[in-house]
Amino acid sequence: MYPELLSIGLNTCIHCGSFGFRPSLLCFHCEELLFKTAFNRFSFSREVKMVTSLSLFQWQKDRNRILNRLSLALKGQRQQRAWEYYAERFLAEWLKSEFPGVSAVLVPCPAINGIKDHAYWFADSLSKLTGIPMRMALRRLDAKEQKRLKRSERQTSIETKFALSEAPIEKFSHVYFVDDIITTGTTVQAAQFHLKKLGHVKAISLIIRE
Ligand SMILES: [Zn+2]
Repeated sequence: MYPELLSIGLNTCIHCGSFGFRPSLLCFHCEELLFKTAFNRFSFSREVKMVTSLSLFQWQKDRNRILNRLSLALKGQRQQRAWEYYAERFLAEWLKSEFPGVSAVLVPCPAINGIKDHAYWFADSLSKLTGIPMRMALRRLDAKEQKRLKRSERQTSIETKFALSEAPIEKFSHVYFVDDIITTGTTVQAAQFHLKKLGHVKAISLIIRE
């Protein structure tokens, strides 16, 4: 058996399997290693498809195995405590780079079926730490709705991935779209297409792929 499979649910480090599990889901040693190898010290803020994106870790393909495991372990509905930990670490860096906008809002990437998943817990933790409100301003369009929209109005997949959950009433100085990972940036682009009606859009993610 693989040690990482045996260790599931046993409060052991998700990377090396040793006991001495911390809120980060890692042992002290692996947590140190993660920050040493993947911490996004020099490009915490960067442009992704013309959207300013803030990310705590950078993921160079096949180069960071701790980050590979962590990104998988943090998916889903059950890691609220771990997201609280990473939100604290994120906030420490965020405050060094900018002061979150006065009338800002946090919008998590909507989950399929509207469940409370990783993006929700990350946004929720940031909201509790900063006092910035969280809104479920986006919803995911299902395959049928997407098809219908594309046929009838010749819209692109960027436009039809999400929709605003309700007509915008309030305006915000900044709208922070929150997700766990930014890979190609198309999700960020799709979110920005709709969220720009609410205010200036920026993206927040734990991990950004190189
Ligand atoms: Zn470890």
